[in-house]
Amino acid sequence: MALQALVTDIHSLSAHDGPGMRTTVFFKGCSLRCAWCHNPETIRKEQEITWEAEKCLGCHACEMVCPVKAISFNRESNYIIDRESCIACELCVEVCPAEALKTAGEKYSVEELYERIVKDEPFIKGAGGGVTFSGGEPLLQVDFLKELAKKLKERSFHLALDTCGMVPPEHLQGMLPLTDLVLFDLKEMDSRKHKVFTGAGNERILRNLFVMRDYIRERNLKTEVWIRTPLIPGMTDTEENIYAIGDFLAQEFSGMISRWELLGFNNMCTTKYRKLGISWPLAEEELLPAGQTRYLLEVARKAGKGLKEISFSGLTRREKVVPPRMNG
Ligand code: SF4
Ligand code: SF4
Repeated sequence: MALQALVTDIHSLSAHDGPGMRTTVFFKGCSLRCAWCHNPETIRKEQEITWEAEKCLGCHACEMVCPVKAISFNRESNYIIDRESCIACELCVEVCPAEALKTAGEKYSVEELYERIVKDEPFIKGAGGGVTFSGGEPLLQVDFLKELAKKLKERSFHLALDTCGMVPPEHLQGMLPLTDLVLFDLKEMDSRKHKVFTGAGNERILRNLFVMRDYIRERNLKTEVWIRTPLIPGMTDTEENIYAIGDFLAQEFSGMISRWELLGFNNMCTTKYRKLGISWPLAEEELLPAGQTRYLLEVARKAGKGLKEISFSGLTRREKVVPPRMNG
């Protein structure tokens, strides 16, 4: 059977996922459950239905058509879906007169996704960009990914792989010869906290960093590596964590990592959680204060001595300016 992948979105003109202007493909399915996930529609590996309250007319056509009775409405007329029962037949999406229901996750063959990406070729190559495989965790669909990457490489696209590192090592190794840049997430050095924040300890992720380093060195690959650390309020944004990551990277990976990026938290994905019917504890969380991100960047630079480039990107909150007291 021809290989197929589930993709939730394809962003053209993305400026955040590697050098230049890029086309970023979001693969569905993830091996972690990060409390701050910005793409909650990519977490489950199955297709799922999203609902927009603002568009819904309350006609109940979806409820009536569902063959497995997975849809109901509560007293406040909020749509409730039993995701375990849903068989993703999309009958509810077809029947909805208001387009309030959508399917997260579209099936693509290698050829279909390749053709879609190639449409962006003029602006990608004109702006020194490339293609980024993101998610979710793209390496969970590694056979598909390798086929697609081979075809794109024949056309000389710059390819980036955005991974959480929580994957079988052979999946990572299999993609490295086809990858120009790995964007590797390293979120928390304390494994116990990592488990609380993401649902799993960090041992496998750290092991895979070494696997990647050795594989690149032994084969003399030109693959570049950027490490990315999200700064999440009350979780990963501690001096202790940033120092520990910087120290670890400087000790073990100096010379191999060309950039370490600290990424600021924002809650702009709140509507995505709402559409999935998930209550997200970080929905009201504010941006980090600018002073704190500056301080954490200093900590990172101190700990990560020898690393080529350490930067912060994202939005920050301005601290309140207290006016000076007037005499008299
Ligand atoms: S996709 Fe099909 S099974 Fe799932 S809720 Fe809609 S109608 Fe029911
Ligand atoms: S079919 Fe669409 S408009 Fe009607 S109740 Fe369902 S989601 Fe709302």
